[in-house]
Amino acid sequence: MSKLKNFINGTFYEPLTKEYIKSYNPATGDPYMEVPSSGPDDIEMAVRAASRAFPTWSNFSIEKRARILIRIADLIEQNLEKLAIAESEDTGKPLDLAKTVDIPRAAQNFRFFGTAIRHFSSESHSMEGEGINFTLRKPIGIAGCISPWNLPLYLFSWKIAPALAAGNCVIGKPSEVTPRTAYLLSEIVKEAGMPNGVLNIVHGLGQKAGKALIEHPEVKIISFTGGSQTGIEIARIAGPMLKKMSLELGGKNPNIIFADCDFDKALNTSIKAAFRNQGQICLCGSRIFVQDKIYEKFKTEFVAKTYMMKIGDPMDKGTAMGSLVSESHLNKVLHYVNLAKEEGGNILTGGKQVHLKGRCAKGWFMEPTVIDGLPYNCRTNQEEIFGPVVTLIPFSTEQEVLEMANSVEYGLSASIWTQNLSRAHQMAEALNVGIVWVNTWMLRDLRTPFGGSKNSGLGREGGWEALRFFTEPKNVCISY
Ligand code: NAD
Repeated sequence: MSKLKNFINGTFYEPLTKEYIKSYNPATGDPYMEVPSSGPDDIEMAVRAASRAFPTWSNFSIEKRARILIRIADLIEQNLEKLAIAESEDTGKPLDLAKTVDIPRAAQNFRFFGTAIRHFSSESHSMEGEGINFTLRKPIGIAGCISPWNLPLYLFSWKIAPALAAGNCVIGKPSEVTPRTAYLLSEIVKEAGMPNGVLNIVHGLGQKAGKALIEHPEVKIISFTGGSQTGIEIARIAGPMLKKMSLELGGKNPNIIFADCDFDKALNTSIKAAFRNQGQICLCGSRIFVQDKIYEKFKTEFVAKTYMMKIGDPMDKGTAMGSLVSESHLNKVLHYVNLAKEEGGNILTGGKQVHLKGRCAKGWFMEPTVIDGLPYNCRTNQEEIFGPVVTLIPFSTEQEVLEMANSVEYGLSASIWTQNLSRAHQMAEALNVGIVWVNTWMLRDLRTPFGGSKNSGLGREGGWEALRFFTEPKNVCISY
C-alpha cells in the first residue's frame, strides 16, 4: 500500500506523529493508501518553513509570482490523465468528470489568479484640493487553507492560488478522505520552481491537523470550505484570535421551475444539478420546486430520466454515477432516505444501495433517488443530505415558492427557470442566497463573487474578492 508524505519546505516528510490513516477507493471498497495523520508538531514545522519563506515570496515581483502560478497551471494540464485517475480513485467520481471538470478547473484556478494579480489595483480617493488617499494592499503572511472531499483539487486550488498570487505563504490541509491530488500537486509545485516553504501541504484529520492549523497564532488568515458545523467550530477558535476568515459552507439549494420555462432545458439541467458528482456538490439543486401546472409532466419525465442513469465503474466511459465517497457517507445518505419515508415521503425512484459486479462489487454505490409528498419544512427538506437524493415540491405562486425556498438555514445558491424577464429579476432579488442562476446551473465565471448567506458561509471567494481577502489594505493620506 502506498504511503503519502507531507510536503514542507519543498521536501517530502513522514509525519512527526508516525501515525497514518487508511484511505479507501470507494468504488472498490478496498484500502489502497496510507495518509499521514499529522499533528501540531507537523503544523509547527510547516509554519516555521512558511515564515522563513514569506519575506522572499512577498517581495517577489508580481510578474515572477504570476509566472510560477501559470507554470503550475501548465503542469496540471500536462498531467491531466494522472491527476484525473487519482481524483476518480479517491472520490469514486466518474473519470470523465474528473478529466473534463475537476482537473481542468484546477489548472484554470492557477492560470486565472496568476493573470488576475497582474491586473489587481487598489483605490485612491481625492480630497478636492486638500490631499489624496491611496490604498496599499500587502500580503498578510501565512494562510491556512482547508478543503473538503467532494471536489478535491478544484477547491484546494481555488483557495491556494489567490493566497499565493497575493504574496502569502500557504499551509494547505486537504481532506483526509481524498488527499491524493494535493500530494501530486506538491510534486508539480516543486517542478514549477516555487521557492521552498511557500506552499506546504500537511495531511491529516480535521480534529487534529486541521485544528492545530486553525489554532496556530502565526496563521493569520483562514480559508475554509466544508460543512457548516465545522465552519462554526473553526469560527469559535479563530474569531477570538481575530483571524481573517473566509468560510464556504453547506447548502440546500432550491431549483425553481415555472410553467413558462424552456421545459427540455429545465429538465435536462435539473438532472445534472441533482446528480452530478453523485449529488455531492455544495451547489446541487436538491429541492426542486415545480409549478403545479406542469408538476405531473415534469415529475414523470424527471423520474424516467433518473431511472435511466447509468450507475457503474467510475473508470468506464458512459458511467453517469460513480460511487459515493465513503461507506459512512453512503450510510448517512441512506439514513436520510429512511427519514424521508418516516416523514411520509414517496420514493418515486431509487432509494437503495447498489451492488455492482466484478471489480466494484464491494463499492459504495447508490441509486439516484427522487422523493415527493413531503412538506417543505420537514427535516428531509431542511437539512443538507449531500448525496444523490432530491425532493419534488409543487407550488402555485411566486410568493409561495419564495417562502418555501427561503425557509432553510442555508443560503448558498438557487436556480430559477422562467421565460418571464420581470419574474426572473424579482425572484433573483428576493431569494436569500449568494448565487442565483436564471435558466442555467453552475455556469461559472471566476471573476464573480462566490459564496453564500446565512449558514452557508462568511465572505466571498473569486476574482477581486479573493485577492482583497488575501491582502491587508493600508490607507495612505497625503496632504497637498
Ligand atoms: P468537513 O467540514 O467535514 O471537512 C472539511 C475539511 O475540514 C476537511 O479537510 C476536514 O479534515 C477539515 N476539518 C474538519 N474538522 C475540522 C476542525 N475542527 N478544524 C479544522 N479543520 C477541520 O466537510 P466535508 O464532509 O469534507 O465536505 C462536505 C461539506 O462541504 C458539505 O457540507 C458541503 O456543502 C460543503 N462544501 C461547501 C462548498 C462551498 O463552496 N460552499 C464547496 C464544497 C463543499
